[in-house]
Amino acid sequence: MKTSVAGFPRIGRNRELKFASEKYFRGEITEKELQETAKAQREFGFKAQKDAGISLIPVNDFSFYDNVLDTAFLFNVVPARYKELGLSPLDTYFAAARGYQGEKGNVKALAMKKWFNTNYHYIVPEFEDETVISLSGTKPVDELSEAKALGIDAKVQITGPFTFLKLLRFTGSKRAADIREALSNEYIKLISEISAAGGTFLQLDEPWLVKDLSNEDIELFKSIYHKILSDKKGLKILLQTYFGDIRDAFNTVTSLNLDAIGLDFVEGRKTLELIKTNGFPEDKILVAGIVNGKNIWKNDYSKSKAVLDELKTIVPEENLYIGTSCSLLHVPYTLKSETKLKEEYKAHFAFAEEKLKELKDLSSLSDEIVSANKELFAGRPDVFDAEVQGRVSSIKEEDYTRLPVFEERMAIQNDILKLPPFPTTTIGSFPQTDDVRKNRRAFKNGEISEAQYVEFNKGKIKECIELQEKLGLDVLVHGEYERNDMVEYFGEHLSGYLFTEKAWVLSYGTRCVKPPIIWGDVSRKTPITVEWSKYAQSLTDKPVKGMLTGPVTILNWSFPREDISIKESILQIALAIRDEVLDLEANGIGIIQIDEAALREKLPLRKSDWYSEYLDFAIPAFRLVHSGVKPRTQIHTHMCYSEFTDIIPAIDSMDADVITFEASRSDLTILDSLKENNFKTQVGPGVYDIHSPRVPSTEELVGQLTKIRTKTEDKKLWVNPDCGLKTRGTEETVKSLANLVEAAKIIRQQG
Ligand code: GLN
Ligand code: ZN
Repeated sequence: MKTSVAGFPRIGRNRELKFASEKYFRGEITEKELQETAKAQREFGFKAQKDAGISLIPVNDFSFYDNVLDTAFLFNVVPARYKELGLSPLDTYFAAARGYQGEKGNVKALAMKKWFNTNYHYIVPEFEDETVISLSGTKPVDELSEAKALGIDAKVQITGPFTFLKLLRFTGSKRAADIREALSNEYIKLISEISAAGGTFLQLDEPWLVKDLSNEDIELFKSIYHKILSDKKGLKILLQTYFGDIRDAFNTVTSLNLDAIGLDFVEGRKTLELIKTNGFPEDKILVAGIVNGKNIWKNDYSKSKAVLDELKTIVPEENLYIGTSCSLLHVPYTLKSETKLKEEYKAHFAFAEEKLKELKDLSSLSDEIVSANKELFAGRPDVFDAEVQGRVSSIKEEDYTRLPVFEERMAIQNDILKLPPFPTTTIGSFPQTDDVRKNRRAFKNGEISEAQYVEFNKGKIKECIELQEKLGLDVLVHGEYERNDMVEYFGEHLSGYLFTEKAWVLSYGTRCVKPPIIWGDVSRKTPITVEWSKYAQSLTDKPVKGMLTGPVTILNWSFPREDISIKESILQIALAIRDEVLDLEANGIGIIQIDEAALREKLPLRKSDWYSEYLDFAIPAFRLVHSGVKPRTQIHTHMCYSEFTDIIPAIDSMDADVITFEASRSDLTILDSLKENNFKTQVGPGVYDIHSPRVPSTEELVGQLTKIRTKTEDKKLWVNPDCGLKTRGTEETVKSLANLVEAAKIIRQQG
């Protein structure tokens, strides 16, 4: 059988592309040097796939920042404000991705959103009424030529037109229906160009098809594809779906003039059933996505074999290709970089490069291969902890409720905390400067003693507290210098977790995260953050927030187990973090923030599954974490994106006292929705974007706050940035925060 990879990681085994891009942003290397690094990363991926014997190797899955943004630029869907800067094409692209502040002007970045149910984030392209869609780039064909030069007859991959339209943000009066014709025409041109460049396969990614689709959606999809597929110029077209099954569009898709259809058998609960019930067209290739592109556990060959055996009774073997369930972008490069993981653990994992081997294995399964693989699934060492399981099973209904109710607590907390109106705060981390990382690394590598490590961090905490006092912030933080990452840090301090050295996964742009792996039952053996928070609080009379990551985010940003349910894992983690909350409180910390940055991440893509499959346990698990605190203790939570208009009651029933969230890159409609839903929790809508180095002026912040005030109750409004400041430089941070405090003062004076 043949094999197909939907997409391959691009950032580099050792994050070469990340470092080169960031050097380029700082003006330390030229565009040419950056392009060379990029090329080397692409070649690495091509070769790895070629050596593994993959039949359909993708090109154009590479990106300097994001593939959706690439597609927008390819079709000239670029807001005028970026073009007007008069920068080079690459810099115009980066301006749209990251914002620009310099000699040529001052513009914010485009909005960024979660990519379906992953921790990858795409840039939301904007369509203005004046936008003229036109194929105006050569990236796909250039990358095709590059692969060809290496002897690879690659498959060009690109965001499909339907998903692209669904992801667009229309800023004027035009809508998808107004531009579908023009967009289809440009995809047709693209097909011609790929064909002219000697391409044979085009993969159009249409993950939107796994969502709940309306009739209108289906009509839109159909009309675009009828048009595009009417003249394929000899190119074979693969429609690639992922992150679920396409139950609403299955028959539509199979009846199209496509050559191949890629379906997800991992997250697509109904994929097999759909094929069994409806059949599959004889003349089309089925790319069966059975190698999980999102998790790092080895494929269970016996299970996969059972699926393949069923498929073989429906699809002729020459038309059955083994594929990845989605792009391998969501898993790290290779286990080869992991030198510290025990072999007996490592035997259970497959990262991107190892998954290539799995594709190959599955394409010609022998009994030996299957039985060797079976042994792995007989059991893993060090997984079960009876005490943890006992605690989970004895959770009582009342453990999920905090008393007294919100209003009563708010009055008590106001009396004790005596904060000014519009209290100012930050989300937790302060810039992770080189010295901070160096200190952590030196400690990890055993080059300095624990005492030296702690001493250094205490120095940083002291500086951080002094800085915040000087700036005049009201609720302070310790700066999170001990944390490499808000989830990995907790993973490292909880039992049941494994962590890696180089298992980086792209989160957005050039930012990578290193999700820890949940190996077994999770528990907290000793306090994790208490000493740092206590120390920070000892330095000031102002309240210092204790900083924790919530159970849902810890799970969502880890590689989860596949042998127990997500609910079970979340409850285990919730109990561990609950212990930490109570210890912080017992040690004099009066405000505790429990970040749920990734709450939405595993929200099912189909609305009908939202509550029953997720929120009904995720939200109570959050309450379990804080339900044991005293009324006087103020619980904050933070979410990275303001995309919760549709789950406001669920967010409110997390029953936190204050929630801060991202709001500066999006319009403020979220606040209208909060009002409509009588949202009770106090709110801190982020007033400036921390994903961009630009410094917001005081006037801009006052303007933002004035707008916000028309939509929220003054007594419930906090003033803070969008998110943590760890990725920012010190200088821009100090300036931005000074302006933020100044803006809050102006607003207070206005009364
Ligand atoms: N407290 C964390 C920080 O400030 C929150 C980060 C996040 O939401 N992603 O870094
Ligand atoms: Zn955040």
